[in-house]
Amino acid sequence: MMDVPMPLDGAERLAELIRLLMSHAPAAIAMFDLDMRYVMATPRWHTDFRLGDQSLIGRSHYEVFPDIPDHWKAMHQRCMMGASERNEEEPFARSDGRIDWIRGEIVPWRDSQGEIGGIIMFSEVITQSRRAEETIKRMAHSDPLTDLPNKQLFMDRLNQAVVHASAHERQLAVMFLDLDRFKLINDTLGHDIGDLLLMSIAERLAGCMTAQDTVARLGGDEFTIILGDVSSATEVANIADTILAALAKPIRVRDQELFISTSIGISMFPVDGSNSVHLLKNADAALYRAKERGNGYEFYVSEMNAAAPERLALENSLRRAMDRGELSLHYQPQMDLVTGRIVGAEALARWNHPDWGMVPPATFIPLAEETGLIIPITEWVLRTACQQSKAWQTAGWPAIRISVNLSGRSFKQRDLASMVDRVFRETGLLPQHLDLELTESSLMEDVEATTATLGRLNAMGIQLSIDDFGTGYSSLSYLKRFPLSTLKIDRSFIRDLANDQDDAAIVKAIIALAHSLCLRVVAEGVETEEQLNFLRNENCDEIQGYYFSRPLPADAFAQFLAKQAASQASTHTPVIPPSSARFA
Ligand code: C2E
Ligand code: MG
Ligand code: MG
Repeated sequence: MMDVPMPLDGAERLAELIRLLMSHAPAAIAMFDLDMRYVMATPRWHTDFRLGDQSLIGRSHYEVFPDIPDHWKAMHQRCMMGASERNEEEPFARSDGRIDWIRGEIVPWRDSQGEIGGIIMFSEVITQSRRAEETIKRMAHSDPLTDLPNKQLFMDRLNQAVVHASAHERQLAVMFLDLDRFKLINDTLGHDIGDLLLMSIAERLAGCMTAQDTVARLGGDEFTIILGDVSSATEVANIADTILAALAKPIRVRDQELFISTSIGISMFPVDGSNSVHLLKNADAALYRAKERGNGYEFYVSEMNAAAPERLALENSLRRAMDRGELSLHYQPQMDLVTGRIVGAEALARWNHPDWGMVPPATFIPLAEETGLIIPITEWVLRTACQQSKAWQTAGWPAIRISVNLSGRSFKQRDLASMVDRVFRETGLLPQHLDLELTESSLMEDVEATTATLGRLNAMGIQLSIDDFGTGYSSLSYLKRFPLSTLKIDRSFIRDLANDQDDAAIVKAIIALAHSLCLRVVAEGVETEEQLNFLRNENCDEIQGYYFSRPLPADAFAQFLAKQAASQASTHTPVIPPSSARFA
């Protein structure tokens, strides 16, 4: 008999066809009987679920995957009752700790009699694409350097926080932080160090927060914070203190210890703004003020926007005065009463406004103090005066002491000593040629802080004077303790010296007191020869006033020095200059 191949009947042909499809299908498909035992599985099922080439046929699905969650088992059961099931992206936590993200469909299959014989699962393991999606999402919402939320996510969260706070009648706070002089670190130590520093800052900030808060980096050295649920401004101020303290600790980057100070502007919902944009804008305005004042953090106050118009015009003009070159310095010589030589010059600020002309310091210095503009102005005055003094030395004039007035607020500026040090380094002036004039009131305000600041400045080699002495209130015991070098008698006591017995007695007493404390005495506002003679008789050390010279622009001051030198060279004896040498 010929060996004729048996033709396959219909059912077998179908089964063969299914086997063929299953062995080539580029998808994870498995077929189960009613006891959830494998009937068939595609090669892709093996690879996607990392099952290798072990045989699955006849084995229970729940034995192969002991970690199948109950709700999936329930789904299988429903399917066996005839339902079709679909699951969208679900995590499948495996006992080895890995998580597979799965999405799929399950359908029942029926035998030739039309009875349900089990189920077929079509699964897609989407872990990788899901990871990619998450990375993209994270990149769109976070700052790649610090991994903190970026501005977009910050604003989203702030919007949500505002909605939540208004619904529950709660307060929230927005903080805007900016590192002081980060640009300098970036420029001098390089961007790598700058980046590492920002990462450390981000970590420290995150360490100060609770789970309800958000810290974000807007870019550069700007960070923002949402304090989700706060009960008072005091609570917020305490948190600001904590943040400042955390960031003030030295930060080790590579082999360097970096010290950084920070300024924080704060706005609060609902008082400072009803929406996220206003809150952020007002926190930024407060930050600007914190920077000017140099005192760490500032709350937003609405007067920042609603000042009286004239004052605002003055303030705005003053803000721009430095950039527009409207500020200048005049120098008033100080003369030694014994030698007749110029031993010092006081730098006095002048504001030449294009419309208003010369605005006197008595008008703009108090405004600058009030608005905080005094901080950048003082730095400008100091730098300009030191530069000028160094230039005179370079031009061959004997070194004289240059005096700069420090307002109360500048004196309290946290980084005063480092600012002054920076100016020395930039201008090349030696510290012993600088004298800082302080007022009695600013010295006596916070004696402990004053002692520390004066100690620091004194250690740098700077001379320290007390200005307008007699107009304020000084404690003698503190005067003794502070490392001062000079006491300047206020002009008001000098004015009537010739006629007023009381003034004469006061001036005598001040000179004696100063000398007993080993302080040099400078008399201010000396206008007449009579006054000068009186002061010389009382052993006053130096005089400053119109008698000798008004404050002069730098070039006129240099001419004054030249005239002085010429007259002293011709007489060989240092004398008080004749009235012809006076600059009226
Ligand atoms: P001050 O520090 O006591 O400066 C002395 C003031 O007396 C100067 O006024 C000077 O021009 C004036 N003066 C000097 N000799 C005579 C005189 O013989 N007769 C009269 N009548 N006045 C004389 P100025 O330049 O108008 O400055 C006024 C005040 O403004 C200064 O008093 C000082 O407190 C403040 N100031 C000036 N520049 C600055 C600055 O750069 N920073 C700060 N914080 N304050 C400054
Ligand atoms: Mg002065
Ligand atoms: Mg004075």
